[in-house]
Amino acid sequence: MKKDVKPVNSLPKSITIFGRSFRIVEKPHLKDEDGKELCGLYDSIKREIKINSKDLYEVRLSTLRHEVVHALLDLSGLNEILSVELEEAIVRCIENGWDDLGKI
Ligand SMILES: [Zn+2]
Repeated sequence: MKKDVKPVNSLPKSITIFGRSFRIVEKPHLKDEDGKELCGLYDSIKREIKINSKDLYEVRLSTLRHEVVHALLDLSGLNEILSVELEEAIVRCIENGWDDLGKI
C-alpha cells in the first residue's frame, strides 16, 4: 500500500485562500520581468504562488506566508486602497508576526 507521506521540510503543493485554490510552484532562480532574482511571487491570474526553490526551507516558508498575505489583500480588494509601500509594510508585519498569531 502506497502512503501519501509529506516529506519533511516541504511546502504544500497548493493552498486555498478565500475559497480559491492556488498552486504553489517551486522554481530555481525565480526572476521578475527585469531579471531580478526573487524569493517569491504571487500571480493572481494564474492562481499561483511561486517560490524560489534554491532558498532554505525556513526562507521558503516565510516567503510563502508573505505571498499568502499579498493574496489575502488582493482577494479582499484591500490592496486597491493601499500604496505599494504600505501594502509591503503590512505584508511584512503579518509575515513576521505569523508564528505569534498561531499561539493565540
Ligand atoms: Zn511583497
